Amino acid sequence: MEYEKDDQQIAGKLSQQFEKIIWSVNREIGFYDIVGIKVLLCHSYKEFKDLKELAGKLPDQSVAFANPRKKSITLQNPKNMPAKSDYYQILKHEYCHILLRQISSGATIPLWFEEGFAQYFAKQWNFTKEVKFVTSALTGNTLDLNRYKYHYPLYNDRIEMFYLQSYYDFKFLINKFSFLSFQKFLEKMHRSGNFTSSFYQIYGKSITQFLEQAKKSIKSHVILSVFYSGFGLIWTVIPFLLLIAYIRKKIKMRGIRKEWEEEQIPEDVKGDFENIERDSSLYGTIQQGIGEGKYYVTHPEYHRCFQEILKINPFPGTLNIKIDTNILNSLKPLFKPVVIKGFKTQTRSFGSLECYKCLINDEKEGWIIFAERTTHPDNIIEIISEYKIVSKDNKIKVTFIT
Ligand SMILES: [Zn+2]
Repeated sequence: MEYEKDDQQIAGKLSQQFEKIIWSVNREIGFYDIVGIKVLLCHSYKEFKDLKELAGKLPDQSVAFANPRKKSITLQNPKNMPAKSDYYQILKHEYCHILLRQISSGATIPLWFEEGFAQYFAKQWNFTKEVKFVTSALTGNTLDLNRYKYHYPLYNDRIEMFYLQSYYDFKFLINKFSFLSFQKFLEKMHRSGNFTSSFYQIYGKSITQFLEQAKKSIKSHVILSVFYSGFGLIWTVIPFLLLIAYIRKKIKMRGIRKEWEEEQIPEDVKGDFENIERDSSLYGTIQQGIGEGKYYVTHPEYHRCFQEILKINPFPGTLNIKIDTNILNSLKPLFKPVVIKGFKTQTRSFGSLECYKCLINDEKEGWIIFAERTTHPDNIIEIISEYKIVSKDNKIKVTFIT
């Protein structure tokens, strides 16, 4: 732990508590690969604010942040904190971020999952949050969490709902399936370094499908929540909050169209935003094939299928492209493949093929082929096309098209 001399006493207490936090979280999740973590205790609010700005785009109200890559946590000094915030819960929250990244082995984790995970294990839920969540959902403010895979919402009111809903969805995942399958999922991701495919393999659905299911469940949760608390405090609180929310929404509506336009092209995140959210392209490099592709492209039966089903007369050979599997796995579920069924000849059987239509370097059409039986690793995709594809420096862009 790094701190200034003046803060020695508080730093001592903090590191003692931190040990306990690490131990309890690890035990609960069942992961003991403890990492060396650096905690930086800021002396002044200004120091914290400056460091936070350096760290990039973070919600305004955050009082601590973690840098999982550097395995460090930066903390605002408790003496500068809003009176109500529970310091150790926040410390726990930030530790959860680091631990999750450690478990993930470099996998790209959706932001809602990270924040849900951290809030869930830091036990940051209470009556007030439940009321806020229910009220927000009742007034139709549920978010499409898929939009916030890689960045936080840009507006404060949405950030609050983003955190609440992330918690809700994460808890839904654990309750709906079981803690054991959650641990299996972590284990799988730890070994494969791939969030999307591990999720699919353990839960039997894509992340998008899961988020839709969770969103649907909010409705019945809200009804139950209001119903069960019918005799309690919430019953008197909710109509009142609803009224406030309604009035606030009305006021907001005036400026909302402008706000939406702004959110669609936020200046500071524009570059990232466009690439990640709108572009269904893979960027990769051409790899030297081993001629296996040529064998099946020219096999008479497959060749007949390509002509009849894909309506192309492919160039005899496949293009092997090395790509980022995380991006591939996030794009693939969004498109529907054309399937070419497997078949048998007298001497051997041939597996089925999943074919996705694509555009190569923005100009030539082709198909990405996923063979049921393949000897390629996950990060190599195969492309067939009517054209012989050559590309400068072996760099290539492949865009999924419907
Ligand atoms: Zn967080």
